[in-house]
Amino acid sequence: MTCLEVQSKIIAYIDDKLGKDEKQDFLQHIMNCEECREELIIYYTMIEGMRQLDDNLPLSRDFTGELNARMERELKSNRKKRGLLRSSVVTGVVAALALMIFGYVNFLHLLHDQEQAALKEKQGKCYYSDTFNDIIFFPENENQILDINIESEEPEISFYERIRRYNALK
Ligand SMILES: [Zn+2]
Repeated sequence: MTCLEVQSKIIAYIDDKLGKDEKQDFLQHIMNCEECREELIIYYTMIEGMRQLDDNLPLSRDFTGELNARMERELKSNRKKRGLLRSSVVTGVVAALALMIFGYVNFLHLLHDQEQAALKEKQGKCYYSDTFNDIIFFPENENQILDINIESEEPEISFYERIRRYNALK
């Protein structure tokens, strides 16, 4: 907020008609700008003094002190709100992380279940039926048994078996 903006909002501030964020920007500037602070004190003294006179109230002796107390109160209450906001952000992040971890664990379970289901399906429909159905239902068909022996991976031949075969060839 520039000095010009701040000074155009002095009366609105005194009448407490500034929005939350606007008021904070305004106060931040006032705290750091002597010129605008002096301007505010002059307006505050004038407006509050007139009001007190209008209401037949005894005039304040320390307008500056009153104004400072008010600004301090407003800045403090905002700091509290910001603190709350920050802690709620932290809570949100923690909640999101917890949700992510929870979701990830669930996802792993889901993945595991899906893998198991896929395996079962594979075994049930392809492996099991393709490999064994014919033997189970047509055991008299010897070719099926031969087929399976060809299809299945040849077990590794042991060293002695190789020697035995080699000797047999001779
Ligand atoms: Zn200024």
